[in-house]
Amino acid sequence: MKILIATDMEGITGVTTWEQVTPGHAEYARFRRLMTQDVNAAIRGAFDAGADEVVVADGHWNGSNILIEELDARARLNNGSPSPLSMMEGIDQSIDAVMFIGYHARNGSPGAILDHTWSSRTVANIWLNDILTGEYGLNAAVAGHFGVPVIMVSGDQTACAQVTELLGNVETAVIKQASGRFAAECLTPTVAQEMICVAAKRAVERLAEGDMPNPFVLDMPITVTIELFTSDMADRASLIPFTKREGTRVSLTAPEMSSAYTGFRAMVTLAAG
Ligand SMILES: [Zn+2]
Repeated sequence: MKILIATDMEGITGVTTWEQVTPGHAEYARFRRLMTQDVNAAIRGAFDAGADEVVVADGHWNGSNILIEELDARARLNNGSPSPLSMMEGIDQSIDAVMFIGYHARNGSPGAILDHTWSSRTVANIWLNDILTGEYGLNAAVAGHFGVPVIMVSGDQTACAQVTELLGNVETAVIKQASGRFAAECLTPTVAQEMICVAAKRAVERLAEGDMPNPFVLDMPITVTIELFTSDMADRASLIPFTKREGTRVSLTAPEMSSAYTGFRAMVTLAAG
């Protein structure tokens, strides 16, 4: 059994502000250590349940947050950016399941720490076909492209609820209760990481028992639509050939999810200017 742990930082234990997840701020050093510990808890749970291999993707910012010297030595780490599959680097047909650690809700969600969708300055909303979703949906669809299910998520209550609403009854570790975008009641690392470990272990056990939702596979071709914050962003995103433009919405249709994902990333990169 081979597991990919796809990580982000906003849903990590204790995180409530942008400063804590932004390189260069004094607080960042503390929270990258906590991120490493949350990931280690998931690795421990996966191996406790019988996983043979664990690969980690560092998915936040420039993909260089996890402290490799403190990472569980049984895992391998995909870091740096841009990589071919970004937050899902390491996914392929050899992976049996994906875990989302430190995930956050889509932009515009009430009661959700640092809610945003891919780029907090650029993207207001995204749709996959007609499904309004966030990073969790994009990344789950990339896993689905390879026939791989998502089996667990950690983050605040809203992130976990959005993932289960989209994917079904996956294991969740709600390690903070958000009361706003920058406020939450947080569990301490000891408690939160035990919860992550237990959820990861149960997720792998349930997968082995055949008790997990199917991979998230979209109808093809796949249309990915981005609503940008300003029209100049849409001006730039629509420079990509064969995109369609409606106001601040730009969409692109691709034959399958892997190229829809790279097309999406290209649109956001251009839009940001
Ligand atoms: Zn992030």
